[in-house]
Amino acid sequence: MSAKKAVFRRVALRACPLCQGRSFDPVAEPFDDRYGFPGRFPVEACRGCGLGVLRTQVAPSSLGRLYQDYYHQGIQARPAARPSRSVWKGRAFFLRARLLRGAELWRWTRPGASVLDVGSGEGWPRPVLAALGADYTGLEWNRRDCERMRADGLKVIQGDLRSALKSKRRFDTVALSQVLEHLPDPVKGLRQAASLLNAQGRLLVACPNWGSAFRRPEAWLNYHVPYHLWHFDPRTLALAAEKAGLRVLRLWTLSPLSWLALRGCLAAAVEGEINPCFHGAPSLPRQLAQWPEALAADLQGRGDCVLAELA
Ligand SMILES: [Zn+2]
Repeated sequence: MSAKKAVFRRVALRACPLCQGRSFDPVAEPFDDRYGFPGRFPVEACRGCGLGVLRTQVAPSSLGRLYQDYYHQGIQARPAARPSRSVWKGRAFFLRARLLRGAELWRWTRPGASVLDVGSGEGWPRPVLAALGADYTGLEWNRRDCERMRADGLKVIQGDLRSALKSKRRFDTVALSQVLEHLPDPVKGLRQAASLLNAQGRLLVACPNWGSAFRRPEAWLNYHVPYHLWHFDPRTLALAAEKAGLRVLRLWTLSPLSWLALRGCLAAAVEGEINPCFHGAPSLPRQLAQWPEALAADLQGRGDCVLAELA
């Protein structure tokens, strides 16, 4: 065993984080189809509540190392898009993103709202939020992303939800966009995120939909092992919100066209190897070609992503 592999301790999930159930049904056994982490990982469904779970997980103590050594490996060289300060460019960016069904979550941000984007990366929603007149702050664990954001004049808190709680700042909107499924304790994550809201604040959540029309036992873009630990559908996301003491104001599903276009990359995946197909976004024509399928799934409430506004 190499020194690198020895770092990653794996643990078997004992109980479902939503219903504490201990019985699971096998669903799929995918491998890391983009960043080359070795091995297959069983994805199962909780018999009690239906939550999709990664049954064997990289131990929480090794997750920092997993993200540092593997996550986004091979796509780091992609130049960062510079956040624009122009409101008109922001509006154009927002319209384009909406056309591609990729920025719906942010529609619910009120003009002038203070926004905390949890797991912000380099802060791509900044132009969207500038167009909405929002005051944007990123929360990011990765030091390099934080440095890039600061160099672009953006506000960012370096660290995790605990670090943000220590900062004592409270926000009108806290967004967990494609984050909840990565957290070792998702109910605690929702609670912590809700603690960052001011009295009238709203929590926005987007994550892959386990009930998606695009999920198959043999392949799904969003199994994304070993990084996605949980898979919510509208029902289990509402259950997680309830467990965290939150109520659902709005909940719907949507299929981002870029996700559907990226499905083609799954065929190029080789276990244990970086998949270069995932470098960069799919072309505009390839994304637009996904419209009919996306619309059909979304109209049935089986879109690839589930979105919710919580309070
Ligand atoms: Zn359960």
